Amino acid sequence: MGFFTDTSVCIGCKACEVACKEWNAVPEDGLEFTGMSYDNTQGLGADTWRHVAFIEQDKPMGNAATGTSADGTGMRWLMASDVCKHCTHAACLDVCPTGSLFRTEFGTVVVQEDICNGCGYCIPACPYGVIDQRKGDGRAWKCTLCYDRLGAGQQPACAKACPTDSIQYGPLEELRERAAARLDQLHDLGVDDARLYGEDPEDGVGGDGAFFLLLDEPEVYGLPPDPVVTTRDLPSMWRHAGAAALTLLGGAAAVFAVHGRARGRR
Ligand code: SF4
Ligand code: SF4
Repeated sequence: MGFFTDTSVCIGCKACEVACKEWNAVPEDGLEFTGMSYDNTQGLGADTWRHVAFIEQDKPMGNAATGTSADGTGMRWLMASDVCKHCTHAACLDVCPTGSLFRTEFGTVVVQEDICNGCGYCIPACPYGVIDQRKGDGRAWKCTLCYDRLGAGQQPACAKACPTDSIQYGPLEELRERAAARLDQLHDLGVDDARLYGEDPEDGVGGDGAFFLLLDEPEVYGLPPDPVVTTRDLPSMWRHAGAAALTLLGGAAAVFAVHGRARGRR
């Protein structure tokens, strides 16, 4: 199960941010405009589990008529509600030493606050910069995809609150089909820059449990273009470390053997 966020129909109302905070009792963390846009929550963090980006561009939308701004180039706002990606190969989960982070029966990734010891290993491991330590608390927090609501047969609070169905929740295969159809529709309408992000199970994280339809390059939205699971080299690192340890042990055994023989001759 997962999220498909179709940013082409987002109206920036922030109902998703508010519903997430209310349902999950996420503390208030200040509302400050970036100075560059109407974005007043600025990014995902320990106390912002859904973040709606507002990006202002001097660019017309698809086949829309130009000439609406002072320099005649047109303008558009890109709005996108970002969230934890619930990666298929989740590095945050790989590095957690306490088992606080776990994969749920819905395929999502959840952090349990009563088990997290605040070691913070998951924070640099996340290729998207999603998971974060709460100030004055020290533990790691992020979107749970409303694990408690799913267990009760309900959809996540953000998807329920979204008035335009920009956020859709459901089985990933079904969402991928819906996303592909919407992408074709937008391309037919002349929105050539529309693209899917995170839907490919062959990508560097094995596909995201939360994927997006974007209207521009991922970097425009602050998303990494080619995310890679940061723990992908761990198995080979452990193999090399094991081989090195065996070599050291072999060397030590040889030294003791030679030393022992020398003492025996004395
Ligand atoms: S986006 Fe980051 S925090 Fe979310 S599951 Fe992937 S690695 Fe973990
Ligand atoms: S609730 Fe829906 S339309 Fe409103 S900001 Fe969030 S994603 Fe966009």
